[in-house]
Amino acid sequence: MALKGAEIMKMLPKTNCKECGCATCFAFAMKLATGGVKLDDCPYIDPEVKAELEGAMAPPMKLVTIGAGQNAMVIGEEEVMFRHEKTFFHEPGIAVLISDKESEPDIDEKLARVKDLRFERIGNVLKVNLLALSNDSGDGGTFETLVKKAYETTDFPFILISEDTDILFSAAAMCADRRPLVYPVTNENVSASIPKLKELGLPAGVKGESLDEVIAVTSQLKDAGVEECVIDPGSRNMLDGIRDQTLIRRAALKKGFRPLGYPTMTFPCFMCRDKYEEALAASALMTKYAGIVVTSLTEKEFIFPLLVHRFNIYSDPRRPMTVEEKVYEVSQPDENSPILISTNYALDFFIVSGAIEEANIPAFLCIKDTGGIGVLAAWTSGKFTGEAIAEFFKKYDVENKVKHKKLIIPGVAKKLKDELEEELPSWEILLGPSEASDIPKFLSEEWKV
Ligand code: SF4
Repeated sequence: MALKGAEIMKMLPKTNCKECGCATCFAFAMKLATGGVKLDDCPYIDPEVKAELEGAMAPPMKLVTIGAGQNAMVIGEEEVMFRHEKTFFHEPGIAVLISDKESEPDIDEKLARVKDLRFERIGNVLKVNLLALSNDSGDGGTFETLVKKAYETTDFPFILISEDTDILFSAAAMCADRRPLVYPVTNENVSASIPKLKELGLPAGVKGESLDEVIAVTSQLKDAGVEECVIDPGSRNMLDGIRDQTLIRRAALKKGFRPLGYPTMTFPCFMCRDKYEEALAASALMTKYAGIVVTSLTEKEFIFPLLVHRFNIYSDPRRPMTVEEKVYEVSQPDENSPILISTNYALDFFIVSGAIEEANIPAFLCIKDTGGIGVLAAWTSGKFTGEAIAEFFKKYDVENKVKHKKLIIPGVAKKLKDELEEELPSWEILLGPSEASDIPKFLSEEWKV
């Protein structure tokens, strides 16, 4: 939101008629500046002023959707250069490159492998998002065979790549319902591409040999009413790649330069000599500031670190990661199973529950909502005290889940033991290990009922 409330106020009718639901035009302006109301809520804004306001208030980087339905990949609409300034919003898509020059068995194997690139981490599914299907054969029929196969056997959104505009749009028409990104739209083919992009309602992957060329193409597309673009500035080495990504981001966010106000796509698959270098390049480009990275990598050992890296950058630094407060049953516990308690800091939960699984001793894991902060900080701030845990026991009827009365608390919370012995006098409070990695040893040696 580029405009401040006072600036918006100058452009409103100033009649204070209240029809928008606000007491005054000034109140409406203030709310509009923070997204609390919509421009349309005021029926009296002059159409020209409205268009001006819409332009000025539009996000500096366009939101682009590739694909449809639950697998759609949404990129763009970022607001800051650095994550610590606020947060990054839409994680970059990771696209796996498949060429129509590859043999049929290779393509089948690759498609199967990409489908399998899914991992669970801290309650989130991390996965590859797109297939970049490339018409390297130059043959329309061969490309359509690849697109058809990918369409029928996977539910990924596509980036369609062909230097032949006819082949490109013919393939795009085959899978238009999946809203592919059509690439490359260049200075040479933009005029021919515009009617087809508009007819099929597809986003354009704009390629230029320089930023000036990109600007010329995005401006032409915008004037023609094609709103969704993804920019490839043509960089094919790391140095140029990072430079171009940074220039585009700065121009869009800091200068409000609309022709570069789009998410970007990068090609680490064409920048590197080997897979290790490619993985590093993809990681660096995700950090600065790719909207899509196209990679030839399909090995889990390369893709998993990339997915985790992306996950770490795009988690919101303003909010601790949490899990739901409740009593978790780890590996089907019964009335003789141990009871452990911890906070709802997500990392703690997954480490502790993983350690219990590793111990192979089913258990109840009580997770108390502490706002996502860890044991010691939560105890210090009064969210993980004896009293709070006693209330939790009552709320979740913990006593009736087991025959025994033994509670294992985190080893770092020694002072909590005294509090709990006072609050839960009929329970034996056992101090567990300080490190979650010692839980399996602790349970196998100490747990007896
Ligand atoms: S409807 Fe428009 S003119 Fe009326 S108070 Fe709201 S902003 Fe002002």
